[in-house]
Amino acid sequence: MKTVLHLAKYAWAAPYSALGLLLGALALLGGAHWQRRAGTLEFAGGRFGAVLSRLPPPLAFSAMTLGHVILAVDRMALAELRQHEQVHVRQYERWGPLFLPAYFASSLVQLLRGRNPYIENHFEREARARAADRQG
Ligand SMILES: [Zn+2]
Repeated sequence: MKTVLHLAKYAWAAPYSALGLLLGALALLGGAHWQRRAGTLEFAGGRFGAVLSRLPPPLAFSAMTLGHVILAVDRMALAELRQHEQVHVRQYERWGPLFLPAYFASSLVQLLRGRNPYIENHFEREARARAADRQG
C-alpha cells in the first residue's frame, strides 16, 4: 500500500516533472551537473544557470522546482535552497496538476491585496516555514 501511494505521488506530479526533465536536459547541454537525491533529480550550474543568475530582480531566481525535479543556478544555491525546494516537491505531490494554477492564484490574491505576490504567496510562506523548521 505504501508503495502504491508513493507511486501515485510521482504520477500525480508527473506532468510538471516531465517539464522539469525537459529543462534539466537543456541544462545538461549547457554543462549543468545532475544528481539523484531524496526522491528528486537535481540539476545545477552550467551556462543557463549563469545566464539565469544575471536576470534582473523580477525575473531572477536561484532555484525552482517542477514536480520531482529541482533546478538551481549553481551548486551553492542548490545546497542553500534544497530544504525549501523539497517543501515545494511535497506541495506538487499534494496538488498535482493543480499546483501551478493554485500557486499563481495565491500570488494574484496577494497582488490584489497590495502585497508582494512572491513573498506573501501561501506556498512560499509554507516552504519558508517548513524549511526553517527542518534546519532549525
Ligand atoms: Zn519557493
